[in-house]
Amino acid sequence: ARQSETHGFQTEVKQLLHLMIHSLYSNKEIFLRELVSNASDAADKLRFQALSDGSLLADDAELYVRVSADKEAGTITISDNGIGMTRDEVMSNLGTIAKSGTADFFSKLSGDQARDSRLIGQFGVGFYSAFIVAESVTVRTRAAGAAADEAIEWSSRGEGEFDLRQIDKAKRGTDVILQVRDDAEEYLDEWRLKSIVTKYSDHLNIPVQMPKRDDDGKADGWEAVNSGQALWTREKSEISDEEYKEFYKTIAHDFEDPLLWSHNKVEGTSEYTSLLYIPKRAPWDLWNREQQNGIKLYVKRVFIMDDATQLMPTYLRFVRGLMDSSDLPLNVSREILQDNKITRSMRNGSTKKVLSMLSKLAKDEPETYQQFWNTFGTVLKEGPAEDQANQEKIASLLRFASTHMDTSEASTSLDEYLERMPEQQQSIYYIVADSYEAARDNPALEIFRKKGIEVLLLSERIDEWLMSHLSTYKEKAFQSVTRGDLDLGELEDEDSKQQQEAAEKAFEDSAKRFEKALGDKVKSVRVTHRLTSSPACIVTDENDMSTQMAKLMEAAGQ
Ligand code: ADP
Ligand code: MG
Repeated sequence: ARQSETHGFQTEVKQLLHLMIHSLYSNKEIFLRELVSNASDAADKLRFQALSDGSLLADDAELYVRVSADKEAGTITISDNGIGMTRDEVMSNLGTIAKSGTADFFSKLSGDQARDSRLIGQFGVGFYSAFIVAESVTVRTRAAGAAADEAIEWSSRGEGEFDLRQIDKAKRGTDVILQVRDDAEEYLDEWRLKSIVTKYSDHLNIPVQMPKRDDDGKADGWEAVNSGQALWTREKSEISDEEYKEFYKTIAHDFEDPLLWSHNKVEGTSEYTSLLYIPKRAPWDLWNREQQNGIKLYVKRVFIMDDATQLMPTYLRFVRGLMDSSDLPLNVSREILQDNKITRSMRNGSTKKVLSMLSKLAKDEPETYQQFWNTFGTVLKEGPAEDQANQEKIASLLRFASTHMDTSEASTSLDEYLERMPEQQQSIYYIVADSYEAARDNPALEIFRKKGIEVLLLSERIDEWLMSHLSTYKEKAFQSVTRGDLDLGELEDEDSKQQQEAAEKAFEDSAKRFEKALGDKVKSVRVTHRLTSSPACIVTDENDMSTQMAKLMEAAGQ
């Protein structure tokens, strides 16, 4: 039964293929980065599996990636002797998109090519990017441990469907053969391919080989064209910014340079190397708390897993990069990572590193920090609740809109607030509302404006949650201006206190009448001195749910 069978692509694959071919034409060369990185991943996976089953490597233990071109035939071939794929794996890996949130991603596409191509870049183009330069693609693959006649050939023109058939393949691993389009013939040139390999793949932990040419140009064996040394194992001083940036693009599947990075060798109770990046742009699935593909875990340079959630708290899920431990056992599993002293110390260390990297940015380059905040601030706001140990540090990184500034941009730090506040002021005042305008125009602010006291204006969904976990900053308590009996403490002068008491007496009866008329709708009606031009406003009791929280709960169906 060696007949080929035809299968249809999942709808999303068709959409992705179409989009890619039409939006990435100006950045064609990335197909090679994607295919070489898949080959390198395949080697990593094999090395990892061979830890528990050495026979998988068999007599072919030197792992490599090979890139070659055949001008006559018009093909480029990328080969590896990595893990390979079984028939089922081919079906799902090269016929569907397995990422969660894929439908969500497609719903974000607008038809605007520049915008969409950026989104596709963030989504990760992967294997299908082969079709940017190829009119048809053939994949011949034999899984590690499978017999020579159990290999699979997949082929497709990148339109609606692909063909599968069983074939013989002498060696383990995968060959990806591209039949190059007329408008991409430049990539049939070996020099061109070599320059792309060195640009994108120099740092990979595996040799990328190309045909070795003798003086007459005849192919004579293979030679490595990259350095083949994992970037993070090299000395910081020997790595250029360009190399750091290219490495980021490979591991983060991003088209853009990172905003900043930090490379550290940690020694002491636990020994590890970390290379952590902050991206410039939010990934398309930033809001999905479950989707966390930030940190890769290596043990002694051997790749162990993607998405090592235990190494970075959820509120820092925008961080990309890797950690390479010298202490963990190579056969570490997710279960072991879950509750492990070594991982805990790596996580604490990396958290501190990221927070201090951000503090430094805020101090040295406030404008760039603002850019960071506008992109990832909302995620960082999950921090004070999730990570009490670092609460003060996280709080110092928060930015707010404020009555002191005339803009909805959240650009005021708590330190700036403290610096501006008069000596007698005891609390940090804030308000949470549905929008910046609603916060700014809330009548509860009238008294603060009159007295010239700054109030932080919060209007994101998460803000109520944030403020319920922040009680003090540098020993100053946070005080909502719409909650409880507002006590301005020493900011109050004697005169107004007396006036207030007099007014309360005078309006006691009216307040009672209002209370009666409103019945169940209110808990009580009080005379207030908060307002200077509005007649009334709604507040909540110190211990009750705030109106904003009540709205959130209602929206959540509670
Ligand atoms: P990603 O690399 O982000 O997972 P890709 O689209 O690049 O996405 O690849 C899809 C999947 O196909 C990979 O996750 C891998 O399982 C499989 N794959 C691709 N190329 C190879 C290869 N050379 N060897 C083994 N598996 C491969
Ligand atoms: Mg890939």
